[in-house]
Amino acid sequence: MASGTTVKILPCGAMSADLTWLLLQPGRAMRSRQDKDKPAEWVDVPTHCVLVETPDGRLLWDTSCPRDWEERWGPTGLQDFFPYDKVSDEEYLDARLAQVGVQPGDIDYVVLSHLHFDHAGNAGLFKGTSAKLVCSDIEKNFAFGFDGPFTGAHLKADYEDLEFETVSGDTEFLPGVTLLATPGHTAGCMSMQVDLPDSGTMIFTSDAVYMGASYGPPVVPASIVANLEDFYASVEKLRGIAERTDATMVFGHDAEQIHQLRVAPDGSYT
Ligand SMILES: [Zn+2]
Repeated sequence: MASGTTVKILPCGAMSADLTWLLLQPGRAMRSRQDKDKPAEWVDVPTHCVLVETPDGRLLWDTSCPRDWEERWGPTGLQDFFPYDKVSDEEYLDARLAQVGVQPGDIDYVVLSHLHFDHAGNAGLFKGTSAKLVCSDIEKNFAFGFDGPFTGAHLKADYEDLEFETVSGDTEFLPGVTLLATPGHTAGCMSMQVDLPDSGTMIFTSDAVYMGASYGPPVVPASIVANLEDFYASVEKLRGIAERTDATMVFGHDAEQIHQLRVAPDGSYT
């Protein structure tokens, strides 16, 4: 339990994408013969970050997409599959931080669930500050280890000139804040568990679980999965923790849930 800890969810607008990327579900993006001529279903893919303020330090979970997404993603083609086109000026991460009275230099730890383009996109905001950038050891090895400027949704321009500290396995990173190894989506993808005195346990799944429809049961996989067996095991690991702790699950990209949460700048969880 982390007394004196506050969680602020920072909604950062949405990308748009073909639902097939997110939810390989028969009858939805995967059409029946009766619906085979329907156009692809494009949906909002909201993105958020989480500010966790504890007596032992201020942690930012993930950094969303950058303002210069269209240019930065250009070499990858991602800008045409996941345009970050449903975001207003006050929804970019830097604006959200300012709205809650925080400058990049006020952050002690920036923890990246994984280094995909829509999670590490603003990691560079913290370059030259005292913030420590943190990801899992497996994620770092992968993200720095491939040849060329990008592969899949990892884009080295987001993070290659930054220093990362790493964690391994499940780690109580700050009192009441535990980083959980939830591989599958990427090899080193993490989720974050925060145990709060009033709100109870919250689990921020990042892309280990995209949305409520992915969580099921039954679990529904997605198009971007590095290891399907690990993906399923991680979802069930999270489900087990959630059942033991009666946790509130906050999914990585759920277009309905983000509107049901108490979000910053007005809302928070304690
Ligand atoms: Zn991802």
